[in-house]
Amino acid sequence: DLRLAQRLQGLPQPATIAMSAKARALRAAGIDVISLALGEPDFPSPPEAVEAACQAGLRGDTKYPPVGGQPALKAAVARKFLDENGLSYAPEEILIGNGGKQLIYNAFAATIDPGDEVIVPVPYWVSYPIIAQMMGGVTVPVPCRESERFRLKAEALRAAISPRTRWLVLNFPNNPSGAILERDDLEAIAAVLRDAPHVLVMADEIYEHLTFDGRAHVSLASVAPDLRDRILTINGMAKAYAMTGWRVGFCGGARPLIAAMTSIQSNATSGVCTLAQAGAVAALSSPVAQRDAMRETYRRRRDIVVPALRAMDYVSCAMPDGAFYAFPGIAAALGKQSAAGRSLASDRDFAEALLEEAHVSVVPGSAFGQPGHLRLSFAASDEILAEACTRLERFLSALR
Ligand code: PLP
Repeated sequence: DLRLAQRLQGLPQPATIAMSAKARALRAAGIDVISLALGEPDFPSPPEAVEAACQAGLRGDTKYPPVGGQPALKAAVARKFLDENGLSYAPEEILIGNGGKQLIYNAFAATIDPGDEVIVPVPYWVSYPIIAQMMGGVTVPVPCRESERFRLKAEALRAAISPRTRWLVLNFPNNPSGAILERDDLEAIAAVLRDAPHVLVMADEIYEHLTFDGRAHVSLASVAPDLRDRILTINGMAKAYAMTGWRVGFCGGARPLIAAMTSIQSNATSGVCTLAQAGAVAALSSPVAQRDAMRETYRRRRDIVVPALRAMDYVSCAMPDGAFYAFPGIAAALGKQSAAGRSLASDRDFAEALLEEAHVSVVPGSAFGQPGHLRLSFAASDEILAEACTRLERFLSALR
């Protein structure tokens, strides 16, 4: 028997793994399964990025890059932070990593000692608690209410801070709720943080360009420049530029933190693939019209899915202000039985029955710390979304 390290003991098993295995098995059996489970744009990457990556390869840009990132990409990221977020970072305050995820990993690895606490607003993207736990950290979940559109409230944050708090994770626009924070929310949060000088903030802004109805994303570090050196602003190419497979993320933060994170990366993966970095430079200067067109498409799809969900029995659904997920509540359906006689005691049962009987794959909210909900990605075509809603509606109307 392989003896695994203690840091892997008791890690939560993502509910998504069993679900996607089941979806694969159904597909292999010839069943037309609709998957709204993935958090991945359904657009191609910008052609400028693909072209630049090819050119970089042909030019011989194929040697080990500097660990922290190519100077050209750091310069493009510095320009992006300044123009789009009002944040000024020197090259030594920027790190390029293998996706936003590696930067989260580096940051926690660089700073968390066993017993340190990480405050994570609920619902949350699963990787924060898992990575924190791998470092011996303890996740402190802070509930955000559906009635407040899942925004983090300053009072709830204040109550969660302890002397052991190391980090606050702020992921807005939020995966999975689609909540955003506006300037007022951020100002109230900054006021709490001023009273807690030992707390670092991880602002994961990877969905920043996906906001709707004229609501613009605001960076915490721009609202509270006095807190700048305690804020690590994380972003990446995956969602805004449909570049998930390129594995390019970037962040800006205080020099000593960036240096420590760079050193971890140096010993784990070295610098990011040179071709991917060349592609990212090109994408960052590609016409914003492409990005805006994607945002508009997501908005249109949201406006197909959310009203359809709201019209269904047993379902409530907050309007997502950003990202590309709907996060409906289905608690009213729990305790019922599906048409095929499955008892729906939890959101996991619900998601499993929905997959088996209606052939729609979604993620149960409990995977994000928020039971009684489902996460549906609207990164799929209008037709697929309409068909998924029809299937869900049929599934719900057959409950008894
Ligand atoms: N942060 C959030 C909230 C995400 O949803 C994701 C991806 O799903 C990431 C970070 C990581 O993105 P990547 O590592 O692909 O840049």
